[in-house]
Amino acid sequence: MKIAVVGAGAMGSLFGGLLAERGHEVALIDVHAAHLEAIQSKGLRLHTDQGDRHIHNLTACLPAQAQEQPDLVLVFTKTLHTGAALTGVAHLFGPETHVLSLQNGLGNVEVIQTHVAAERILIGVTTWPADLVGPGHVHSHGQGMIRLMSADGQTSPMVARTVQALDDAGLACAADAEVWAAIWEKVAFNAALNSICAVSQCTVDQLGQGDGQALAFAVVDEALAVAQAEGIHADVEACKAKVASAIAHHRGHKPSMLQDVLAGRPTEIEAINGAIVAHAQDHSIPVPCTRTLLQLVRLVQARGAASPPAA
Ligand code: NAD
Repeated sequence: MKIAVVGAGAMGSLFGGLLAERGHEVALIDVHAAHLEAIQSKGLRLHTDQGDRHIHNLTACLPAQAQEQPDLVLVFTKTLHTGAALTGVAHLFGPETHVLSLQNGLGNVEVIQTHVAAERILIGVTTWPADLVGPGHVHSHGQGMIRLMSADGQTSPMVARTVQALDDAGLACAADAEVWAAIWEKVAFNAALNSICAVSQCTVDQLGQGDGQALAFAVVDEALAVAQAEGIHADVEACKAKVASAIAHHRGHKPSMLQDVLAGRPTEIEAINGAIVAHAQDHSIPVPCTRTLLQLVRLVQARGAASPPAA
């Protein structure tokens, strides 16, 4: 397949690198100049459980420099940059181009739909982890998976082709008709752990002290009550078990939202807690913990934007 990864940071580089290793024609498209230059001069350095290597059979460029019309656009910006990123590569979209989003949060389909028709959007969720440790250099350790489906709920040859490509690349991918349940469970998990850590500056394991876990469970209850009101069969107990396991085992882990706050960067709070609150309003469901955490993260973010990033 010809694959353009739009937003080739930690996750985009990991996925693009693994797909290139399986022989797909991959273009990494990003606005991070130092990252692009490092890949252009030395290849993409990928350190996974399969080893530490440089991948050379891919290209890396700015959006305006990309020429090749891809079969698949894999969008992996942070959610707040999706619209701008797709506008930057609008010249690449042909009548058969599909777009896949495995980004966190809700609202991704709605943004992508302003660029391509719903039947050409694939949506899903992934639990693979990745970190950009420096320009051109990505780490990913541990196990993950991908679940995806066409945004219009129909199976299609492109769903099967994409699942096959990602699975062959070692990314444990399956098509899943219940993908919205998996997406909402991840949103609930992130709404709980990301926002509480961002506000309290606790690492995930530190939520095991005091009322951290009880607050996290309250957010999961609120978020998944909204999902159920929308007819999505999200599993509350399974989600709470994942939250409890993360608190018990993820020692010293700073979720991305805490890392963003510490670096003075905007966070994905609007696509996570913000989206839950918006959906809750549609169903008149009270979500006081989720809403309060949304308001607190907005405050912390506004303060961060007004002061230089923390060292
Ligand atoms: P990241 O910040 O490492 O990468 C995002 C990239 O998008 C950056 O390289 C940035 O330069 C690029 N970008 C921003 N604006 C752009 C534009 N206009 N055009 C092209 N590129 C642009 O983020 P990440 O950690 O890879 O996360 C990406 C998404 O995946 C997020 O939604 C995140 O929540 C989700 N996710 C991340 C992980 C993880 O472990 N990192 C795991 C699961 C899901």
